[in-house]
Amino acid sequence: MLPDQNAPERILKQPKSTSALIFYWGIRQSFSELGVHNIFFSEDYRREFAEMEAGKVFDDPTVYINITSKREPSDAPAGGENWFVMINVPPNTGQNWEEVIPEVRKNTLKKLSRMLKVDVEHLIESEEILDPVRIESKTASHLGALYGTSSNNRMAAFLRHPNFSNRIQDLYFCGGSVHPGGGIPLCLLSAKIIDEITD
Ligand SMILES: Cc1cc2nc3c(=O)[nH]c(=O)nc-3n(C[C@H](O)[C@H](O)[C@H](O)COP(=O)(O)OP(=O)(O)OC[C@H]3O[C@@H](n4cnc5c(N)ncnc54)[C@H](O)[C@@H]3O)c2cc1C
Repeated sequence: MLPDQNAPERILKQPKSTSALIFYWGIRQSFSELGVHNIFFSEDYRREFAEMEAGKVFDDPTVYINITSKREPSDAPAGGENWFVMINVPPNTGQNWEEVIPEVRKNTLKKLSRMLKVDVEHLIESEEILDPVRIESKTASHLGALYGTSSNNRMAAFLRHPNFSNRIQDLYFCGGSVHPGGGIPLCLLSAKIIDEITD
């Protein structure tokens, strides 16, 4: 956003947090066994994360499904449900997403169909997809990471981009990619820090 300034190269080179692949499915059936928040765990959670560290997506992914129509029925047509189906994936480091996305979709549908004992693909009425490349283009989050720099060690919070600029007076930074961390609660903390230092 400041083309005349040098980019923070050291911070941009730090390893990034996970990204996500999201399928927004309109489902033409109601599932009494599901609630607002649903997690279908991988059989091998450690391996899932090891694969992600290697830039890949495990073929038995953990699948999170959020269904707001469980609480707010007008979010979906009568008898149907709005599924937000999210799979953890690595940030975009040049993977061929055109190939990865159909593969993950296939594995996700296979897993859900087995666990819910119904052919889920045939129940999909509408579909939208969000992936690391689209997350970066929509939000400007580097490589589509959900939480900026990864928080894989104790010092990580202190190595993130600071909340103020050393070079430009009165320029402050808050949000998911700066100190103290990603995710809504920590984004709000960064805003609180700025409020305190500018008071
Ligand atoms: C799919 C998904 C699921 C998530 N789930 C959770 C969760 O369950 N819990 C949680 O705590 N966090 C979650 N997160 C992370 C959380 O959403 C982010 O950490 C947080 O939104 C970051 O806030 P932000 O204000 O820094 O950036 P954003 O919320 O991304 O806002 C940046 C805004 O800037 C705009 N913008 C970008 N470039 C420009 C430009 N050049 N000019 C003008 N505007 C621009 C974008 O359009 C966007 O509106 C999730 C993220 C994603 C993508």
